[in-house]
Amino acid sequence: MFARMARRAGTEPYREYYSRHPSLQGIDDRMRGMPLLGEPGGQFYHSSIMGEANRFFSDIALIRPDDATVHLFANRLRNARDPSATVKGILRELGAVAAGCTSLDVSLVYSHKGRFDADYGRPVELNHPIVILFLVEMDYAQMRSAPRAETLRESARQYYRAAAISKTLSAVLHECGYDATSHHDAHYDLILPGLAVRAGLGELGRNNILVADRFGSRVRIGAVSTTMALRIDRQVDLGVDHFCRICRKCARSCPARALSFGDKSDVRGVAKWGTHVEQCYSYWRSVGTDCGICMAVCPFSHRTSWFHTLIRFVIRRASWSHRWAHFFDQAFYGKSWKGVRQ
Ligand code: SF4
Ligand code: SF4
Repeated sequence: MFARMARRAGTEPYREYYSRHPSLQGIDDRMRGMPLLGEPGGQFYHSSIMGEANRFFSDIALIRPDDATVHLFANRLRNARDPSATVKGILRELGAVAAGCTSLDVSLVYSHKGRFDADYGRPVELNHPIVILFLVEMDYAQMRSAPRAETLRESARQYYRAAAISKTLSAVLHECGYDATSHHDAHYDLILPGLAVRAGLGELGRNNILVADRFGSRVRIGAVSTTMALRIDRQVDLGVDHFCRICRKCARSCPARALSFGDKSDVRGVAKWGTHVEQCYSYWRSVGTDCGICMAVCPFSHRTSWFHTLIRFVIRRASWSHRWAHFFDQAFYGKSWKGVRQ
């Protein structure tokens, strides 16, 4: 959607894109006419909070990894007995809450650049066999405000944090003699949720977002692809796939009715729950934020505590527990999103 929204009438990329997708031109032009995220006109516009969010987004381009930090980590990695564990340790020190590695699957690499007019249509060439993926946590209290302005600020803060981490790790790998590319906000050559699943960081839920251990959907994903040989992690089964078949809370709570209540379907060759992306994004433009309700409402996204850790453990081990876990989640937290004004 962001690449589609970046097209401007009268430019060659606009003409080229809609000559291939004429059915999308009308709806996309209508959405382009709506207020921008974080700008005046959206239902939940708040000048100072949006100002902070916009600064986080614009400052991502200015992030330069600190030289001393890069040297320190590069020395550690050069002398590491277990480079895979060392890379993950570095990511945790930089602020990631989880990390994993997988091999690069070309089906999860974008075929062409699309976000900026300058390189629009250029084929993506990425000859890195390994992808390192990591998660940063979205703050629980901030996400309780979804879909208000605080949610956009929290997204922006975590996009910034993920970019700082991936740029730093990329610099560390370069200093160690490997090729590496940081994949961060507006500069993704990879489809990260599918790769994060393969790297053992979680499962894809009905909300079509990664559902991770301990944090549920309250995460943003960062990645670095590299030529460094690292150990591949195994996929995990957290019980999400089965739980989602019973739950449907995200679909019930979605104000745009963009999520599926039904079974998985074939989406470009992959069995998954579909998302009506135009309905979702159109809602974002009407409220002026990135909504976040389906991230916040997910029962796996509850605050990390001993109690919720125990429930997650039981859900992971015993599918018979899913119905009662779902029942008690509804009893305590409600059948759909209520949210809290900050
Ligand atoms: S972000 Fe909001 S509008 Fe989009 S699918 Fe999730 S709940 Fe629905
Ligand atoms: S809210 Fe329920 S159905 Fe939606 S992703 Fe979370 S567990 Fe799955």
